[in-house]
Amino acid sequence: MEIAEKLIRTHTLTKEEALELFAQMGERDMAARLAQEAVKLRQSHYGNKVFIRGLIEFTNYCKNNCYYCGIRRGNGKVKRYRLTEDEILECCDSGYELGFRTFVLQGGEDPFYTDNRMTTLIKRIKEKYPDCALTLSAGEKSREAYERFRKAGADRYLLRHETADEKHYRILHPEEMSLAARKQCLYELKELGYQVGAGFMVGSPGQTWECLAEDLVFLQNLKPQMVGIGPFVPHHETRFAGEPAGSVELTLFLLSVIRILLPKVLLPATTALGTMDSDGREKGLAAGANVIMPNLSPMKNRKQYDLYDNKISTGEEAAECVDSLKSRVESVGYRLVCERGDFAGE
Ligand code: SAH
Repeated sequence: MEIAEKLIRTHTLTKEEALELFAQMGERDMAARLAQEAVKLRQSHYGNKVFIRGLIEFTNYCKNNCYYCGIRRGNGKVKRYRLTEDEILECCDSGYELGFRTFVLQGGEDPFYTDNRMTTLIKRIKEKYPDCALTLSAGEKSREAYERFRKAGADRYLLRHETADEKHYRILHPEEMSLAARKQCLYELKELGYQVGAGFMVGSPGQTWECLAEDLVFLQNLKPQMVGIGPFVPHHETRFAGEPAGSVELTLFLLSVIRILLPKVLLPATTALGTMDSDGREKGLAAGANVIMPNLSPMKNRKQYDLYDNKISTGEEAAECVDSLKSRVESVGYRLVCERGDFAGE
């Protein structure tokens, strides 16, 4: 328990300390103690606000072949789709109507969406909705591309580092991809003035306690404004089809630890967490999360953005259900707010 108290006092963890914390994780009350502190910190920086972001999954074409991902290039069974610019704008329209003031464009690395097309799209969205924040989550691009997107109006960028451990990265990704490139993208995005989101899956194949300790150290060095973590969920058309899913409990524990390490961080209770546990999102909030990202994609395409099996897409996480989401969030003591919800720090 001493190590937990040290974390709470100092807001830092070395790799060794992280390992010590994990080793003692089972101790009575440790998770509860960290969650209590996490909630207190979130309260002091953001009050009881929970921010909503409208997630638009704009393409499931991908040139990459990440072994865990259902929409990877090598999966010939996926029915591919991409939204047109107009369709994306329509998603924003309905989102705006519902009160959303942040749109997240997420997709595979789709060569159709060239840097030029992305730039045009970003400008169109920001011209129509200058009061909204625009977040991109479209993978690894050149520094020039990130710079153009930023100048066109993109405010934030989500790019999970997936794992900070070189050996683990190689288990999850093919030869042609590299952890160094991924990390470099994150540092470039920061330099360009984006609010940046890193993150990782919990319980992905080959992940050890050491890997998780390294993830925490990496996050402390990068100091991202957002961190997305969720349990790994196997997809039946991947080499990891038979692997166990990641643990909800461990995800919640890590959410609390990350809130304490980066007190002002914007921390979503992710769809994967909601997929693994029907109360996953509420539990995420109680562990220190403060963002929820309902799905704004057109109904006809939702099933096709099939990152992992049983991904929820028409229940409480759907944007249409924002009222029931609101009451669920309120029932556990929070307030779902519509504002842009920028990072509270510098
Ligand atoms: N192409 C973009 C968006 C990727 S999809 C990019 O590279 O950033 C968003 C996230 O879904 C990924 O970063 C990954 O962490 C998560 N994801 C992919 N497959 C998953 C799986 N099987 N289980 C849980 N999460 C998964």
